[in-house]
Amino acid sequence: MKEIYYNSTRGLNKNFTASRAILNGISEDGGLFIPHTIPFIDEEELKKLKYMTYKELALCIIEKFFTDFSKEELKECIDLAYDNKFESDKIVPLEKVGDVFYLELFHGPTLAFKDMALCLLPHLMKTAAKKQKLHKEIVILTATSGDTGKAALEGFANVEGTKIVVFFPEQGVSKIQKKQMVTQQGGNTKVVGIEGNFDDAQSEVKKIFNDHELKEELNENSYRFSSANSINIGRLIPQVVYYFYGYMELLRRGEINFGNKINFSVPTGNFGNILAAYYAKKMGLPINKLICASNENRVLYDFFENGTYDAEREFILTISPSMDILISSNLERLIYDISGKDSTVVNKLMTNLSEHSKYTVSESMKEELKVFYGGFASEEETLKCIKETFDTYQYLMDTHTSVAYSVYKNYLRDTCDDTKTIVVSTASPFKFTKSVMSALDTKYSYQEDLELVEVMSKIASLEIPAPIRKLEDSKVVHNTVCKREEMKEEIRKFLL
Ligand SMILES: *Cc1c(COP(=O)(O)O)cnc(C)c1O
Repeated sequence: MKEIYYNSTRGLNKNFTASRAILNGISEDGGLFIPHTIPFIDEEELKKLKYMTYKELALCIIEKFFTDFSKEELKECIDLAYDNKFESDKIVPLEKVGDVFYLELFHGPTLAFKDMALCLLPHLMKTAAKKQKLHKEIVILTATSGDTGKAALEGFANVEGTKIVVFFPEQGVSKIQKKQMVTQQGGNTKVVGIEGNFDDAQSEVKKIFNDHELKEELNENSYRFSSANSINIGRLIPQVVYYFYGYMELLRRGEINFGNKINFSVPTGNFGNILAAYYAKKMGLPINKLICASNENRVLYDFFENGTYDAEREFILTISPSMDILISSNLERLIYDISGKDSTVVNKLMTNLSEHSKYTVSESMKEELKVFYGGFASEEETLKCIKETFDTYQYLMDTHTSVAYSVYKNYLRDTCDDTKTIVVSTASPFKFTKSVMSALDTKYSYQEDLELVEVMSKIASLEIPAPIRKLEDSKVVHNTVCKREEMKEEIRKFLL
């Protein structure tokens, strides 16, 4: 197999092995690690993927990227990740609803798609640390818009040789998301609410990563930082797998013939999930359009429309909070790609972004964006699509998934493209009961998330997922709230 090396989008760190890139999380110049080339799967090999189980497929895709891991090492990691923590033995069931397919990525331990990568990442990191002969304790620092935090906590809780600190916007997550986090068990975990939004949390975490003084101090105490955010390449690559799985499932069911192209509509925030789809396409998976669906924080929609990324705008708290983001970190990886892998261009644009909150790509770069269709859904449309789909098909989706469906509907209206389409379903409706139930009937808007769990289960004839049942009588064990400027001090208090 061809060796794959990892380079920084900004040019400083070059030729890192996968295990080194995974351990570092982010490059020293603030850039993100990207594979030096995307491995290609030819037709003959693609045909062989058709009858693979999810785990077999995961091994086949991931080993092409993480070439310094042995097959045995990766297999062990994958077996530990995708086990009975997942409620469905298919791992990611595909549901047909009317003419649309929903790839349900939310049957893991925290009921959101982030489990797909975060069940695997701790095992990849432990293995990587062994390979790099690292004897320091790994400290995971994570900023979360709601779902990453819990998924990372579940993944890393009680994993030997690791500690994890999660920062979440105190006012920016659902009640259930918050309860999931602040009740987290495990002596190696720390959860902190911040007075600010997700972008505040994320940019401060990025800053702390590059704080040399703190790094020294940790070093002396035998700690080193890593990241579980989707800036870590160890999160991105495992997400490529389910795009292949969705395609193969359509093939197995005879919905498409081999070689037919399909569309994916992806509810997007930090641009990690849809970037994995873009990588799948580059690997040779027959994909027509990648529909990038935003909520009212429509910064990506505007970018695809006019080539200018402009983060200088009001931050809107929506009913799809995991997508309330104005700085989509992973877009940097796409920018690098469409610039012809030119770090000088990336540096220039990212400097513009940090100094002026905006940048504009060249005409030729804009040309490369045509595989994407950008759209956004208003709060009203999001609610309406939940209700319509439920009334017509008795299929209940969460708010994030509804954004993707809603944008897909607009795409259909604009293009009349009848290509088979998979809507990527990123969260269980049980995670956002208040918003979802209010979509069905406004009378529920006076009740709290947890009170509506039973009602939702009855009305939609869905079993209450085990992780939600467990929440009822879990005790709050984390109650720290701090300002953005105090985040660093909280980390020091926890570790030193
Ligand atoms: C994180 C998240 C998203 C957005 O995914 P990105 O990779 O950040 O674009 C969408 N839906 C849900 C439920 C999420 O948790």
